[in-house]
Amino acid sequence: MNECLFCKIVAKEIPAEIIYESGRTLAFRDTNPQAPTHVLVIPKGHHANAAMLADADDGLADDVLKTAHAVAVQEGVADSGYRVVFNTGPGAGQTIFHVHAHVLGGRDLTWPPG
Ligand code: AMP
Ligand code: ZN
Repeated sequence: MNECLFCKIVAKEIPAEIIYESGRTLAFRDTNPQAPTHVLVIPKGHHANAAMLADADDGLADDVLKTAHAVAVQEGVADSGYRVVFNTGPGAGQTIFHVHAHVLGGRDLTWPPG
C-alpha cells in the first residue's frame, strides 16, 4: 500500500485544490502558503526528490518545469517574477518525499532564502 501523501492526491484519495494538470504532472495549492501564489507541481509518478526526477531521464523534469511556468502564467505572476524551489533532502527542508516544485510569487521575494 502506498502511504505517500502526494500519491494519494494524484489518486484523488485525499482532496487538494488542483489548479492545473498535464498528462504527467499535477499542480495544486500549498495548504500553508508562503506567498500569495504558492503552488506545488509534482510528477504524477512517484520520485522521491529532484535527483531521482532528473535520473528518470525521460523528459519528466522538463514536464515539471514547463508546468511550473504554465502555473505562473495562469496565476498572473510570470511577468512580475516567481521562484521555483525544489527542497531536496531533510537539511534543505524537504518534508514530503514525493518530489515537488514550489512555485512562489505575488510578492517581493528576498534573496538569499532562509
Ligand atoms: P517541503 O517541505 O519542501 O517538502 O514541502 C512540503 C509542502 O507541502 C509544504 O509547503 C506543506 O505546506 C505542503 N503540504 C503538506 N500537506 C499538504 C497537502 N495535503 N496539500 C497541499 N500541500 C501540502
Ligand atoms: Zn508519491
